[in-house]
Amino acid sequence: MIEAPGLLASAVSRWGDDPFARGSWSLIGRDGTPQDRITLGTPVGDRLRIAGEATHPTRAGMTHGAYEQGVAAGTWAAGLGHRRVAVVGAGMAGLGAARALAGHGVETMVWEARDRIGGRTCGVEVGGFTFDLGANWLQQYDDNVLARLAERIGLTVVATDFTDPLVLGPARGPVPEGLEGELRARLEKAPPQAAVADVLESWLRHPAPFPAAAIRELVDAEIVMDSGAPLSWLSARHGFEPGVGEGDRWIVGGYRLLTEHLAGGVDVRLGHPVRRIGIGPHGVTLTGDGRTLDADAVIVTVPLPVLAAGGIAIEPALPEEHRAALGRLGAGRVEKVVLRFGDRFWPVHPAGYYRVHGPGENEICEWLDATAADGTPTLVGLFAGPWLDRLWQGSDSDVAARCAAVFTEALP
Ligand SMILES: Cc1cc2nc3c(=O)[nH]c(=O)nc-3n(C[C@H](O)[C@H](O)[C@H](O)COP(=O)(O)OP(=O)(O)OC[C@H]3O[C@@H](n4cnc5c(N)ncnc54)[C@H](O)[C@@H]3O)c2cc1C
Repeated sequence: MIEAPGLLASAVSRWGDDPFARGSWSLIGRDGTPQDRITLGTPVGDRLRIAGEATHPTRAGMTHGAYEQGVAAGTWAAGLGHRRVAVVGAGMAGLGAARALAGHGVETMVWEARDRIGGRTCGVEVGGFTFDLGANWLQQYDDNVLARLAERIGLTVVATDFTDPLVLGPARGPVPEGLEGELRARLEKAPPQAAVADVLESWLRHPAPFPAAAIRELVDAEIVMDSGAPLSWLSARHGFEPGVGEGDRWIVGGYRLLTEHLAGGVDVRLGHPVRRIGIGPHGVTLTGDGRTLDADAVIVTVPLPVLAAGGIAIEPALPEEHRAALGRLGAGRVEKVVLRFGDRFWPVHPAGYYRVHGPGENEICEWLDATAADGTPTLVGLFAGPWLDRLWQGSDSDVAARCAAVFTEALP
């Protein structure tokens, strides 16, 4: 076992290996456009609708986008007059759908594969307090339905300024003026079907007036960290969607305070994986692990890669447009680590955020100082890209110790 001096407790995510997630959040690949999200969420006849974060055209990859899509799907099913509706998945979208259905007096059953609710919001107890291994922030805070809910039920939220991280690790100069604008302009005017890697490659052939290393670093910090996807796959025009940096605030005590509230009064069956959905002229039938559920309609909120991998057999098969849209979307891998220490050994930074450069090329990770949660020195690290192969090996405590060393060794 690897030792991490001063580490009291830790937790590590495994979203990439999780059969009910198969990645972190949905993204648009080089052949795709936001229209694919709309197509995926378009009802299939009167009895099936896919919801979830991947179907939101402007708020994909975020909890409030997922919730909004769930509510829209629930409202759709109720509007068609269905009296008994099944929901697959008890994440934000599934809970949003179930609440909308209940609000219309529709009988609703949620089948959830895991033995917990929340999906890609996932609170874990680490050293006596709950922290998030999935979603952390309420993004687009001023225009976020879940932020309003958090306020209504009296949750404490803490602001993070992603635009002003304290940069740690091998000395780097500041991001050259105008570089970020130039990156965005090049991505926007990239030809359709170009990947981020295509834009980067042609730019690096003639980087002047910017240093090539600064361009590469900005892409690592802004795009690799934000997506966790291979740049040769990620759409140049559409791979960099809005969300991060728009008034983000994290919830003290974690997202579970929201999901537990939302699940109140909802009939959620945990440990009920759905393996097959049959759609007939008079209703739908869900089956899984020897159980059967009949309903008038079904709302499917499982993560996009689970659907794309055939994790649920849908019969008859989804229409060609839906399958094509699924094929043009995908997901990246961003993993998290929560580290609790006896002493605070890092500098306080007002933004509450740190960007750490590793010794290797393209190694950037980001850290939230979550000490405000309960006063115990706490760091939450986000890792993507080349780090993962090197760090996410062996037991959780080995991974945590390696991550702790990355942060500690970067300090001046
Ligand atoms: C590391 C990480 C950090 C993130 N950070 C943020 C953030 O700071 N802010 C933010 O807004 N968003 C963030 N996100 C994204 C956010 O978590 C998701 O967009 C959102 O939670 C998705 O909700 P959903 O309901 O669409 O899907 P999910 O939450 O994935 O819910 C789908 C549910 O379906 C279940 N399921 C899967 N297969 C089956 C099956 N066969 N049968 C039955 N049930 C099944 C799953 O177990 C799951 O509970 C982050 C995600 C990750 C992984």
